[in-house]
Amino acid sequence: MLVEEKDKLKGKLKEVFGYNQFRGNQEAIIRNILKGRNTFVIMPTGAGKSLCYQLPALMTEGIAIVISPLIALMKNQVDQMNAFGVNAQFLNSTLTKAEMNRVKRESLDGTIKLLYVAPESLTKVENVDFLKKANISFVAVDEAHCISEWGHDFRPEYRRIKEIIGQLGNLPIIALTATATPKVQMDIQKNLQMEGADVFKSSFNRTNLYYEVKQKKHAKKNLVHFLRDHKNKSGIVYCLSRKKVAEIAELLNVNGFRAAPYHAGLEPAIREKNQDDFLNEDVDIIVATIAFGMGIDKPDVRFVVHYDVPKSLEGYYQETGRAGRDGLEGKCLMFYSHNDINKLEKFNKDKPVQERENARVLLQEMSYYAESPVCRRKQLLHYFGEEYTVENCEMCDNCVKPKDRYEAKDVAVVAVEAALKTGERFGLNHLVDVIRGVENQYVKSYNHHDLDIFGKGNEDSVEYWKSVVRQSLIYELLEKDIDNIGVLKVSKKGHDFLKKPYSIQFAIDHEYVDTGDEEESS
Ligand code: ADP
Ligand code: ZN
Repeated sequence: MLVEEKDKLKGKLKEVFGYNQFRGNQEAIIRNILKGRNTFVIMPTGAGKSLCYQLPALMTEGIAIVISPLIALMKNQVDQMNAFGVNAQFLNSTLTKAEMNRVKRESLDGTIKLLYVAPESLTKVENVDFLKKANISFVAVDEAHCISEWGHDFRPEYRRIKEIIGQLGNLPIIALTATATPKVQMDIQKNLQMEGADVFKSSFNRTNLYYEVKQKKHAKKNLVHFLRDHKNKSGIVYCLSRKKVAEIAELLNVNGFRAAPYHAGLEPAIREKNQDDFLNEDVDIIVATIAFGMGIDKPDVRFVVHYDVPKSLEGYYQETGRAGRDGLEGKCLMFYSHNDINKLEKFNKDKPVQERENARVLLQEMSYYAESPVCRRKQLLHYFGEEYTVENCEMCDNCVKPKDRYEAKDVAVVAVEAALKTGERFGLNHLVDVIRGVENQYVKSYNHHDLDIFGKGNEDSVEYWKSVVRQSLIYELLEKDIDNIGVLKVSKKGHDFLKKPYSIQFAIDHEYVDTGDEEESS
């Protein structure tokens, strides 16, 4: 590469953005785009994806189109670019007619270098007609995982993007995302017809983040304890429902924290104020649904708590990724209960079969992650198709406080037999009752006290057997019934296991004891 050319890029970086160095793959990506190549960028949140299209937009003739799913996100970026002295604008439903006309005029006369467009606006005929007249340098598709149903934030409008781009001419496409499992990645490339694109994938390992999963037991008390250890620091607490957001925000305020709620049901003005208060540090903690966060660029978020179990590992990774963007400490704590998983499954009950099945698989991966004794980082990275070979990451609960293992061959046989002999029609609690020889009405009405496995495990506690059944599920000796939430069946692997039991190691589960008082969460 020519020295001058290198200097030119760096010069622009310094001149416009004020940065001295490129980060990670940024320079290689930008060069690729400048060559007019289709480019696929997979980079964790906070690594600096935006610059990858912002800078080349300034160095090419014409206008770069950036497709972005959220109006708030667009606005942030446009404000930021304008502050850098770059003419960037957006085209979405919030513009007045006059503003719209101005944006269109400035796009056509070449004053605007970056035009942010919502996918909904992109599909409008009058906008397509206008874009056809513009001199477009390339199209960037931000948050490209929205294309895939396997992503954590599927948006049907995203599926039409390629068709529209096609109408605008033969333009280079740059797709960017922070979360793409290999499956999602393939989906995106196929949908945007960019199978031949150059792929730039950065490592997803966020070495400064500490991952921890706690049983959701006395969760409110535990949350308050955790937050007291992080007093006056900035953080996010994610909850599943709006109601829970309100309740937890209130709880935190009562306990002397400066917390504000954020969810889509709040008045826009209040929501915006709460977000600004968080960004400006007038409050320390934002309690939010997942509506909060996309495009939020606060470098010193010190913790992200998931009060409820997230719907997928991708979502989880994305949300925890908002911690420690400055490279300093970031704690990620999740409260997990099997109950939450069942609840989330119920939400999906009325969805079309395929969608329900997808959601179920995502949830299953979520519970494997939460219940597994394996290094959290290793599991997360594996999920993103990355192999992590370090023995002990020293930055997750499973590495720092490893669980002891025991030989579980015999007890696993009992657990699988319990499911089989009761006709594969029951859930965790009933199986444990049968194993422990609890003669309740339910057991009697099915004559399960006559089974030979009845009472086989009467010397151990409920908690112990629950942990055995759950781990039998994690190791896929048991599987969940697709149609009946909570019902456990014997898997193919489980049948093989019963025929010829083999050695299997379960974790001694100190954390998951006494699940009787799991906290309700909706
Ligand atoms: P992403 O979209 O990947 O989550 P952003 O594009 O929002 O990340 O960038 C995250 C932060 O990093 C922003 O504050 C951005 O200004 C900053 N940043 C990006 N590239 C550089 C760089 N080369 N040097 C310094 N800071 C950078
Ligand atoms: Zn680890």
